Amino acid sequence: MKPKIKISVLTIFPEMFRTLTDFGVFKRALDNGIIEFEAVNLRDYTHDRHKITDIPGYGPGPGMVMKPEPFFEYYEEYEKKNNKKPYTVILSPQGRPFNNEISSELSKKEDILFFCGRYEGPDERVYNICDDEISVGDFVVTGGEIPAMIIIDSLSRFIPGVVGDSESVENDSFFNGLLDYSVYTKPYEYKNYKVPDILLSGNHKKIESFRKKESIIKTILKRPDLFIKKDFSSEEKKEIVEIIREMFKDA
Ligand code: SAM
Repeated sequence: MKPKIKISVLTIFPEMFRTLTDFGVFKRALDNGIIEFEAVNLRDYTHDRHKITDIPGYGPGPGMVMKPEPFFEYYEEYEKKNNKKPYTVILSPQGRPFNNEISSELSKKEDILFFCGRYEGPDERVYNICDDEISVGDFVVTGGEIPAMIIIDSLSRFIPGVVGDSESVENDSFFNGLLDYSVYTKPYEYKNYKVPDILLSGNHKKIESFRKKESIIKTILKRPDLFIKKDFSSEEKKEIVEIIREMFKDA
């Protein structure tokens, strides 16, 4: 079977990606040939004895800057070898903030390449060969590897066949603009905390309605920004009406 996506990463620490490739759902997707993955050492695209990738920047100021040439050399080699340009994402705290829509959008690419920065980041000219600049949040970490792993792990869940039914993506938070409902398992009662009785009722319609209401209430309480943004279906509006009626039933 031809893999559905080829993911490449250019980094000075390719070994870090074992955290992703050696465990769980992502490992299974690699073993099953659904995803092709390679972590490439940026140092292999240097030409000096010490394989240096970072040097002091121009102008005053602290920190080392990543040389542009190894990024360009790998990119050009990739293009020649594969006869096409990969969709190239540079990890950067200055990029567009990552979210579930971007994750789903990236999962539809055939060839995707991630550039991981370190130190003060890559020379600005590297951005000219990038299609996208993505941040995992308004904070700075020491390198692009962990942000890349977060993005790769997340986008892989949208690729058909990666996640089994039991780990269904459609019910997860953000998929439909709401947070996920609460989940419970045995025992029914633990340290005086009980599972909501409705979940044991066997009435699927009622359970579905209960869960939808929970999702809506959780979203209002935890992420009002999502609730305000969401385009509700008429079914969901009915649930909202019921939530409000329930709140005021004794009034
Ligand atoms: N001087 C840069 C700035 O302030 O914009 C930060 C450089 S940071 C120490 C080194 C590398 O870590 C960056 O080039 C980027 O690849 C990665 N990085 C740091 N924070 C990130 C974030 N929030 N999202 C994605 N990548 C990040």
